[in-house]
Amino acid sequence: MNIHEYQAKGILKSFGVGIQEGIVAKTPQEAVEVAKKLTEQTGTSWYVVKAQIHAGGRGKGVVKETGANGVVLAKGIDKVEDIAKNILGGTLVTKQTGEAGKKVNQVLIAQDVYYPGESQTSEFYMSVLLNRQTGRNIIMYSTEGGMDIETVAEKTPHLIFKEEIDPKVGIQAFQARKIAFNLGLSGNAFKEMTKFVVALYTAYDKTDSSMFEINPVLKTSDNKIIAVDAKVNLDDNALFRHADYAALHDISEEDPYELEAKENDLSLVKLDGNVGCMVNGAGLAMATMDIIKLSGGEPANFLDVGGGANAKTVEAGFRIILKDPNVKAILLNIFGGIVRCDRVATGVVEAYKKIGTINIPVIVRLQGTNAEEGKEIIDNSGLKVHSAITLQEAADLVRQVV
Ligand code: GDP
Ligand code: MN
Repeated sequence: MNIHEYQAKGILKSFGVGIQEGIVAKTPQEAVEVAKKLTEQTGTSWYVVKAQIHAGGRGKGVVKETGANGVVLAKGIDKVEDIAKNILGGTLVTKQTGEAGKKVNQVLIAQDVYYPGESQTSEFYMSVLLNRQTGRNIIMYSTEGGMDIETVAEKTPHLIFKEEIDPKVGIQAFQARKIAFNLGLSGNAFKEMTKFVVALYTAYDKTDSSMFEINPVLKTSDNKIIAVDAKVNLDDNALFRHADYAALHDISEEDPYELEAKENDLSLVKLDGNVGCMVNGAGLAMATMDIIKLSGGEPANFLDVGGGANAKTVEAGFRIILKDPNVKAILLNIFGGIVRCDRVATGVVEAYKKIGTINIPVIVRLQGTNAEEGKEIIDNSGLKVHSAITLQEAADLVRQVV
């Protein structure tokens, strides 16, 4: 689960990680009020107004309606309202959002941490993630902060460092010192960085996160080390251990198709193709997407209806897939292992009748327990559903319709 920058910073702070302080606001008026509060708390007189969306590249991103950037420095409280007005409610397009952009419902009013003495600040990059090959967490870091890490990786890969953490013993003091050293720090900044690294890693570990990315980590002119930005991805499979994180879920950031699927207990990932697929089992769903591609189509989605496909799940699956205007055909590929094919076939016929008119070809491939009976039910239903038993037949039918 992705969360907003301001929520991520709240988590970091609770683990003792230094952060750029800020308060979130939903209206331009509220932005001014929280800016005043922030001045009381931190003494700052300059602010950064930061769009809160689940995507990076906001600083260089542009709000479609106003032309404003997604991160803007306000040199004085009198500038805050207008800047917030230009960002709030707008559609922010960044390198990561795609052309459609994302609607900005909240801005974070943060303290300016670069001034005074901007020339004495340094920006670093730091992330914590899982190296699946070694089964260990790694801290990835670089002297080149504040810019696209992909660009750094491409142009100056020798400036990216990695430190692997042994899960049995956790992060060790010497590793934190090595990181601070490789970042070229000394004196107080060195000491602050070692504390930052240990706190950051602990936060990642204790929150069951799958990714932390702090870009930039800032060394301020007075040698504090703080997170200016924070991308946190919490592991969905561990959310049951953190009931309080449910409140961090912002459904307005989610794809409406995927959300509706989740509400119906279906796992769906929206894609850009023209053949909708409905399959039971993730592995079979992946294989089905391959078959669609080999037949000249492009999958419009990944959809796993789960082990107990029935009339209700099949109907929900149809409804969700049919909302996608790109879909030219639907391939339903069910393996009858636990579920019987004749039951699924009855489910398809019922769902089809319930939805009314489905104007695109539907190809149903049933295999496994009672496959023949299932095919018979489909063939005798009088509906415009093509049935296939082998994957090759299904692929041929897809080829004919796309
Ligand atoms: P991103 O563009 O989505 O990665 O958003 P960031 O939170 O990283 O902010 C983008 C850029 O804004 C940073 O790389 C900084 O250069 C700049 N920025 C952020 N906070 C401040 C600040 O307090 N003062 C100044 N002058 N610039 C800031
Ligand atoms: Mn950033």
